[in-house]
Amino acid sequence: MPEVAPVPLSQLTTLRTGGTPARMIEALTTDELVAALREVWAEGGPWFVLGGGSNLFVGDESFEGTVVCVRTTGIDELPGSRDDTARLRVQAGHDWDALVAESVERGLAGIEAMSGIPGTVGAAPVQNVGAYGQEIVQTLVEVELIDEATGEVSTVPASELGLGFRTSVLKHHYGSVPDRPAVILSVTLELERVGDDERPITGEQLRGALGLERGQAVSLRWIRDHVLATRARKGMVLDAEDPDTWSAGSFFQNAIVSAGFARTLPDECPRWPLAPVFDPVTVIPLAAFDGVLPPPPVERSEVKVSAAWLIEHAGLSRGFRLPRSRAGLSTKHTLALTNRGEATAAEIAQLARFVQQRVQAEFGLLLQPEPVLVDVEL
Ligand SMILES: Cc1cc2nc3c(=O)[nH]c(=O)nc-3n(C[C@H](O)[C@H](O)[C@H](O)COP(=O)(O)OP(=O)(O)OC[C@H]3O[C@@H](n4cnc5c(N)ncnc54)[C@H](O)[C@@H]3O)c2cc1C
Repeated sequence: MPEVAPVPLSQLTTLRTGGTPARMIEALTTDELVAALREVWAEGGPWFVLGGGSNLFVGDESFEGTVVCVRTTGIDELPGSRDDTARLRVQAGHDWDALVAESVERGLAGIEAMSGIPGTVGAAPVQNVGAYGQEIVQTLVEVELIDEATGEVSTVPASELGLGFRTSVLKHHYGSVPDRPAVILSVTLELERVGDDERPITGEQLRGALGLERGQAVSLRWIRDHVLATRARKGMVLDAEDPDTWSAGSFFQNAIVSAGFARTLPDECPRWPLAPVFDPVTVIPLAAFDGVLPPPPVERSEVKVSAAWLIEHAGLSRGFRLPRSRAGLSTKHTLALTNRGEATAAEIAQLARFVQQRVQAEFGLLLQPEPVLVDVEL
């Protein structure tokens, strides 16, 4: 196994917390990664894989197990399913933003609005990364992964990954285990060949964020540049000099609540109705069929509500800090909990709990963390 001297996870995570793990492995090739995982799983101790460490919140104690760092890189271009598309198969450890830059360079559209998201390509499907109305689910064809249960490598279509709002069957949500413990080895995306041409943007969210009129045409490169500038203003592009970016991005997810509960929140709270889930099959007994098809029954009707608005209106503004704490809300973006320098995981967890309690007391709902927590309790 390509074992390396373990370094503190505070050096490898963007929230800058975490002690030194018992063992660390660095896999530079897929063969190394597969062999290392099989060996670690055969031994049976605790483990997790680390990409860019930008969606992890790690506790202060040493992790008593193996951290497998995924450092595989490479992009292969394959034919698309149509003449005007191309597929990119990308190794799991490849830097996500480098992939976006490369796809823009090659004139391939579909991920440009996700410019500037930190981390690796292999972690992107884990929480179905997204920004400004684009999500990886829209372009993801399949992943190659290795299952912990069998140690087998297989190619799994995107439709089997349970990709939803910042979730998938692979994600380790707080308080639960993933439905399918597995490690992604490569990711295949299908992107549209558009070259350098200027095109109108169809996505309303992206248009709004970039201040574009309906029908206004721009190039992929223009979108990338402007998304990066917009994100940087919010502290959402990593910057070693700017403590507002020493975070795990949005610490809390926008809350998904029932339509009934959403009606109890103040009208000003931004909300986005989710598409209702319909039962696709309704059996009507022939004897009861009167020639008129009934409307399909709605199984559930949910609404996504803005966690940032809830936090701000629970009285916590940008830059908020608890007395004597080195953790604080970003001065640019309420949803980002940041390490203002040498903060421990305990200090960040204390701030996270305080935010949860304030929002719960004010609005009656418990915000859920978006990053994966390792050896930390909220
Ligand atoms: C400043 C900032 C801005 C951000 N903005 C956004 C945003 O706009 N949208 C968004 O969706 N996210 C955003 N994030 C969160 C984060 O960048 C993404 O979730 C990213 O995909 C995490 O990649 P990573 O390689 O850093 O994952 P890590 O933090 O290393 O790992 C995250 C989880 O995925 C698992 N994992 C890692 N690699 C693999 C693999 N190959 N196979 C299986 N599991 C794996 C890890 O074990 C862990 O459970 C932001 C974070 C920061 C710090």
